[in-house]
Amino acid sequence: MKWKKSLNGLASYKPGKREEEVMMELGLESIVKLSSNENPLGASPQVKDVIAHSHLATEIYPDGWASELRKVVAAYHGVSEEELIFTAGVDELIALLTRGLLSEQTNTVMAVPTFVQYRQNALIEGAEVREIGLLEDGSHDLEKMLAAIDANTAIVWICNPNNPTGNYIDTTELEAFIAKVPADCLVVVDEAYIDYVLPVPERHEDWMRRYPNVIITRTFSKIYGLASSRVGYGIAQKEVIEKLNIIRPPFNTTTTGQQLAIEALNDQAFIEKCRTENAQGIKQYEAFASEYPEVKLYPSKSNFVLLDLDIPAGEIFDYLEKNGYITRSGAALGFPTAIRITVGRREDNEAVITLLKQLLANR
Ligand SMILES: *Cc1c(COP(=O)(O)O)cnc(C)c1O
Repeated sequence: MKWKKSLNGLASYKPGKREEEVMMELGLESIVKLSSNENPLGASPQVKDVIAHSHLATEIYPDGWASELRKVVAAYHGVSEEELIFTAGVDELIALLTRGLLSEQTNTVMAVPTFVQYRQNALIEGAEVREIGLLEDGSHDLEKMLAAIDANTAIVWICNPNNPTGNYIDTTELEAFIAKVPADCLVVVDEAYIDYVLPVPERHEDWMRRYPNVIITRTFSKIYGLASSRVGYGIAQKEVIEKLNIIRPPFNTTTTGQQLAIEALNDQAFIEKCRTENAQGIKQYEAFASEYPEVKLYPSKSNFVLLDLDIPAGEIFDYLEKNGYITRSGAALGFPTAIRITVGRREDNEAVITLLKQLLANR
């Protein structure tokens, strides 16, 4: 058949093993999943209430415009309704962006390591991918990224905070970068984890008024605890949104997803609590890392930590897994001797740290 040549050599996404599977294999009574940066506190109690009392007409297509959710999100960010696009998670938005902008005639600039879907989608479209190594501390090398942009660069990706390192670029520094990007190159600022950043960043949703070539992406999958509902969105100028809407499948978010997202967004007290507890979890890992000179903790403003233990990643992963904790091996993320761990509940963080200490002591 006549598949795109660009698919040759690309692999499909390999999800981690399911918890049930790992428990069966290893004969564990319980297991905690700290591999996908999900919210250990779940979602707002209001969300659970809506699920319990939902009278869903399953035969009716969802509102393809997500009108109610759109109103609520527009008010929350102080933008107009035409400046938003809703998608089945940010994953789908990344696919729409690349489909609309990338081809064999264009290139795209991103950090490495960063969120892998930028690269995957760009390669599917046949675009040249220009990957710029992170700085020693795990942050984006913005200067080199700027230097890599040329007349054929269609998208530059900024993951802020960056996955998998957790580094955060503050709004002033990032705006200075955006100001230097050519006006015909789209800057995607992926803010999947921005709700975890403390101190809370100043409002910057109006970047698009000064820089029409910016889109900010947000998701309900992380701090809002709705990963299973698949709702994400983009904030950009109307002209950018209109282009993306041509590509967007008409019923790409579900009725339930829209309803739950509204409830989740409306309970900001819960979000604040998640943010505060997460910051305490990061402190637990910082205290651990400061005790061990051989352990490198990347400075995370996110809800995960990347710890380089100078031990093969597979070994760290296996040790944690057989003791009941699923994490993410750094091997697949570009850090062969590190592990990425989602910040969990206090007692789980403590347990993981104890295990890491045992691992280090036994070497
Ligand atoms: C998790 C994640 C996403 C994707 O989230 P969705 O569930 O598709 O909304 C996007 N970007 C980054 C950096 C992520 O870590």
